[in-house]
Order: sequence, then C-alpha cells, then structure tokens
Amino acid sequence: MSLILISPVSESQLINKEPLSTRITGYDIDARLDPEEKTIECSMSAFWVNQTSETVPDIQLHLYMNAFKSNKSTFYKGTSESKDKTVYGRIDISSFTLADGTDILPLMTFIRPDDGNPNDSTVIQIILPEPAAPGDTVTVSIDFVTKLPSRIRRTGYNGDFFFVAQWFPKFGVYEPAGMRYRLTGGWNCHQFHDHSEFYSNHSVYNVKATVPDNFVTGSGGMVMDESDCSEDTAFKTVTWRAEDIVDFAWTAWPGYAVHTDQWNHVNITLLSPPEREDQVERQFTAVKNALDYFTENTGPYPWPHLTFVDPPAKGSGSGGMEYTTIFTSTSATGLPEYIHMPEMVTVHEFGHAYFMGILATNEFEDPWMDEGINSFYEARIMDHFWGENSGMLDHRFLKVSDKIIARSSYVYSPNRQVITNREYSWNYPAGTYSMMSYHKASVILFTMMGIVGEETTDNIFREYYKRWAFKHPAPQDFFNVVNDVVKQDHGDRFGQDMNWFFDQTLYGTGICDYKAAGISNVKQDTSQNFNPTTDSLYNCVVELQRLGEIMLPVEVLVHFDDGREVMQSWDGKDRYKSLSLPSNTMVKWVKIDPEYKILMDVNFVNNSYSDEPDRVPVRRFINKFMSFLQFFSASLIL
Ligand SMILES: [Zn+2]
Repeated sequence: MSLILISPVSESQLINKEPLSTRITGYDIDARLDPEEKTIECSMSAFWVNQTSETVPDIQLHLYMNAFKSNKSTFYKGTSESKDKTVYGRIDISSFTLADGTDILPLMTFIRPDDGNPNDSTVIQIILPEPAAPGDTVTVSIDFVTKLPSRIRRTGYNGDFFFVAQWFPKFGVYEPAGMRYRLTGGWNCHQFHDHSEFYSNHSVYNVKATVPDNFVTGSGGMVMDESDCSEDTAFKTVTWRAEDIVDFAWTAWPGYAVHTDQWNHVNITLLSPPEREDQVERQFTAVKNALDYFTENTGPYPWPHLTFVDPPAKGSGSGGMEYTTIFTSTSATGLPEYIHMPEMVTVHEFGHAYFMGILATNEFEDPWMDEGINSFYEARIMDHFWGENSGMLDHRFLKVSDKIIARSSYVYSPNRQVITNREYSWNYPAGTYSMMSYHKASVILFTMMGIVGEETTDNIFREYYKRWAFKHPAPQDFFNVVNDVVKQDHGDRFGQDMNWFFDQTLYGTGICDYKAAGISNVKQDTSQNFNPTTDSLYNCVVELQRLGEIMLPVEVLVHFDDGREVMQSWDGKDRYKSLSLPSNTMVKWVKIDPEYKILMDVNFVNNSYSDEPDRVPVRRFINKFMSFLQFFSASLIL
C-alpha cells in the first residue's frame, strides 16, 4: 500500500478534516538513504500555487544543504563551527522539469540576494518559460542527491545516526505587495546564514523514505505505512504524511528506543537512546505541561501527532531544534532531577514546534518574533510548573528561575546596546545573536507583562494566535494586536497605543535603569503656626533618578518608620524626580519597582535606598551567582 500514489499533489485531507492553512506549496518526496555513502537519493514532485493577484515571472527555492558545500559559503563565513573536522554536505540536482515535461534545468541559476557571495549556492532561481498568472499552479519534478554533512548544525550523520533536515529543494515564500507590509511583490528567499533560521509556507508533505530494515525512524509526519521495500528486502519503506507544517525533517538510527504517550487527542512519540530510560518520564511530563499551558494561554495544538527525539551523544549536534510536529530535545543519562535542562530544552523546542510553527514568522528577518516570544513562553512554563524561583535549577543550596537566566544574559551582556531588534538576523554583530533574539526580546516581553499585567498579556497572545495562525505575521501585526488588546483591557491608561514601548525597547539601543538616589526627612518647626491635626511633622522627600534612555512607568514603594508603606506611581520620564511625602514619621527606605515588574532594568540593586542599608531588601544573590548563570546560559543556543 502506498498512499502517496493517490495523487502527486494530493488535495485531499488525511490528517485534519479541513486544511489549516492556504494550500500554497506541497511536496511529494521519494527518498532512499544510502547508509554507507551518507547520501539520500530523491525524486520529488512539488507544487507552488500563485495565490496572489500578481503575475509572477519566476520561482525561487532554497538549497539549504549547499551551505555545507565548502568553507567559502555564506554560512561558513559567519560561523564559528570548526571547518576542519566536517565532512561537507551538498545537494546536486540532476533533473528539473515542469509538469508538461519541459526541461528547466538549463534555466536554473544561483542567486545571492543577501550578500552577493559568488561561492554561495543556497538559493536558486528559475525564470519560468511562461509567467505564473494568478491562480496558476507551478508543478515541478526534481531528481536530486543530498549528501549529508557530518556533525553539523541541525543536520547530518555520525556513523549510523542520521538526522535529515534542510535536505530538499524548498520553495521560498512569494510575498505579494502588502504582505508583511512590503511595497512590491517578490520572493522572500534568503541565503542560509550561520545566524539565521527559516521562513516557509505551511505545506503538505507526502514522504517515502527507504532505509535499512533495522533502522528506527521518526519524522514530523504521521506514519501511513511501513513495509518491506519491494526491490530489496534488506530495506524497508516508511510512508509519512504531514499537513500544514513549515518543514519536514526525519531521523533514522538503529539504536533508538521508541516510547509513546498520549495527551488528549495527541499521540506523542519519543525516540531516545535506550540507556536514557531515566530521562523519558521527565521529557513526557515537560511536553504535556507545555501542551496544557499553550492550549490554555494561546490556542489549540491542531495536529493529532507529535514526535520528539533525544539524540544519542554521537548525534548531539542535532539536539535542540524544531520543525513543527517534530523537534529534538537533549538530555544525559543520570542527569539529576534538580537540573531542569532536559525539561527546559523540551519545553523550548516544543514551543517552536507548536506556537511558532503555527505563526511561521520570518525567522531570517525577525528572529525575535520566533526565539524571543518562544523564550518568553519557555521561561513562563518552566517557572510555572517547576517553581517560580526554581524553574531551571532546584537544588537546596541554589535555586534559579528560568526568567532570571534570560534577564542575566541580557543585563550582563557587554553588547546589550550595540544593535536593535530591527536588524536581520545575519546582521547582528558577532556574539550578540542569542542575547538579542532570545534573551533581550524575552526580557522585553516580561517587561511588557509587568506593565500591562498577566491577564492582558494572555489576552494578547490568544488574540495573536486567533488573528495570525498560519498567516506569517510581521512585527507591526504583533504590535497592532498588543495595541488593540491593551486598549480593550485598559482604555487609554497607557496612551493611544503601545508603540512607545516597542520603539524604545525593541527598536532602540538604550537601557532602562532607575535609581533611588536619596531620602530627606526635614522636621518642621513646631514652635510657630504648626497645627498637629492638619500639618505633618516631617517634610519627607524621596529622590529618584532615571539613568537610562528608556522611559517606562514604574511603581515606587515608600516605607515609613512606623511600618506604614505607600505605593506611588511614577511615569518614569524625568531624569530627576522628587517625591514629596509629608508625614508624621520619617521615611526609612524607598524601593522602585518592588515587585520586579520592569525586568529590563539593568540594575536592581540601585532601585533601593535606605537610611539603614542592612534593611534594604535587595537580591544580592544575583551578583553572587552571576558567573555561574552566565556559564549556564552561554552554553544554550536553542
Ligand atoms: Zn529556539
């Protein structure tokens, strides 16, 4: 039985009753793995439908695997990956035809839209013999061989371990004028950079993979069939089907142990090395917690299947990546329960495979929308289920929340002011990509939540899901949702819109730093004209300062000698602010943002000022364990 033969570009639904996304692209791939040569021989039929009202003269496709073709590729020019130990990978196309048999291979040219690097061959363009009119479907048949690289980012082989990703010619996204605010229509098809991820239409996949009989496989698709290969009984053919996902990846390794679990309508499969039995339950718990959280706070997980992979040590280069409905986690045998690393990676990657895969933002151009929003959810989920102060580490001598890790990575980065989140991912200066895309962006979202509240934040993301699922939102689309929901929940309490917030935080390079600078308690002269029932004994003044460029509304807690506390609001705009608080008792201490709502504030220690320094409630542990945290977070690129 081979369901793939029903139609090369099957329109019928096999997984979900109705398509979740507009049918723009689809791929039928027949792949055969050669485990000795480390190659995959493929024949593919793929379609692109011109769903726009524009006439399109060409098609553009990614050949991601060519990033690993030589050390002169754009990927290698930007990477810190070792160039010596890698066996290179590549993709070679031997036949390229249109549905009517027209040979278009001679029309194929390599283009370098981002950097003009003549040695980069990760994007191809074909000027079609006839332009694609609105409504036209361009169907292509391509024969190609993918040579997998060894131990490289996200994809490749090690011995008999294979993780097959970015492995087939893949359409870019044709964006008509107006989509994501672009002025003229055109293909969005960037080269593969060291610091860039992906952008793709949601697609239908029918993939047949022929692999040696003893290999255990997994993919982002649902298994439709698994049977002996007709030509060679030492091989078997697995048939997968996937709908409405942005990329298709698969893995094969004889050593996998297969574990299954169920969450509501979702069949969950975990492939992991047999010796990591002790980590299996932890990872299923993490996935199910994340499913609960995202479902409640964003929107439903629409697929009935989910696969995740805990790669063996020799495949660890493929750990921590996502492809919608399949992702890779990471763990280690005997890893103590108090280190929540496997849970964190699982929650993070699942966030991509779920929420981010549904939104499918342009990760090349706006990495913060993917990594930043996802890191924000990762931290919320970790701290929610594993303890507000112990989401990452829960040891009796040391507890660390996931939120604090994100903040530390941003606050203690020497590069926190060098660039804005407006830049494309590959333009971030060396060493700043993860801080900017993950940590700063996550801290910005926590700060937004501190200002507008948790309930409004959840309303924002529910609305964001509802409006933009399967539609590729741009940053302005997200801001528009924020503006609408904040207005609906709070009226004009924060102004006409929240653009002032994003302009400063995401698109500025300034920092936020508020300081409590002094207290004075001047006793009134009670000898003349003093009325004890209406006049205050002290003229108390609290001095506040804004040291950074960013202006955010803050709360100020003032504590008096008699234990009384008063919470004041400050719009945070002036450089210097004196708060006058006439009182019969003296002010003892003052604290700006006592609940740490403004997570962007780069220095919490100076938020407090006291006449008696030993009574100031500051979080000194942040400094104490800083080196540990930096080590911990620097090792994570997810
Ligand atoms: Zn990520």
